[in-house]
Amino acid sequence: MLDSHVHIEHQPYSLELIDNMVKVAQSKGIDEINLLDHTHKFKEFEFLYEPAKKDPPSYKWYKNHKTISIQVYLDFISLVKSKEYPVKFNFGLEVCYFEETEDELREELKKYDFDFLIGSVHFIDGFAYDVNKENWEGRDINYLYKRYFEINESLVKSKIFTQVGHPDAIKKFGHTPSFDLHSYYESLANVIKECNIMTENNTGFARFGLTNYGLNKDFFEILKRAGVKVNKSSDAHKFQDIGNKFDEIESCN
Ligand SMILES: [Zn+2]
Ligand SMILES: [Zn+2]
Repeated sequence: MLDSHVHIEHQPYSLELIDNMVKVAQSKGIDEINLLDHTHKFKEFEFLYEPAKKDPPSYKWYKNHKTISIQVYLDFISLVKSKEYPVKFNFGLEVCYFEETEDELREELKKYDFDFLIGSVHFIDGFAYDVNKENWEGRDINYLYKRYFEINESLVKSKIFTQVGHPDAIKKFGHTPSFDLHSYYESLANVIKECNIMTENNTGFARFGLTNYGLNKDFFEILKRAGVKVNKSSDAHKFQDIGNKFDEIESCN
């Protein structure tokens, strides 16, 4: 079984970390890990976040991250790939997708040779919607939902990515639009299928003690019916969370 979305994040780039990941994976019946880091960790991707300047609290959130050179990560990838492990490791990035910086992103990514690339919508017209609930106050929920699904479609159509990250993460803090979402689910599922990329059933919200982790059940069924490949993903930010809640969600390969 594959865990298709596992972060290094604040853990050290060390072989000890890889050994710990192997132990947890094996205890959960996982034999393949797609390991990644966020683009917001690397100075080479600072240009991506320019559109967040439209929303000062969101840009401040981004600027509070200390960035490092991606070379540190690339060197670590080479080191791990030179060793043998009973779990297969693939290496990639979770890219914050912005419609506004798509062309520059495509150019920058030409410099690297990753095994996979997850594209995720973490910002809506500059607004970092998943940081905290308070930042939603006074915002137009219907507009944000509509734009969230539109931006996900742009992400898929860019054909830059191999997988769409957590495609209904906008529900994180329990906000719901006044309109029915089924036509948005159908449309996004069809675009994902047409562009022949994958998506994921992500249990990451469980890390925050939230109970609405995993894809909306209807959305999952729509993706399945459309013939989209849906991988399980823990979105682990610590090795202990690899495969978290996998018994409670479905995949579709
Ligand atoms: Zn994400
Ligand atoms: Zn993630």
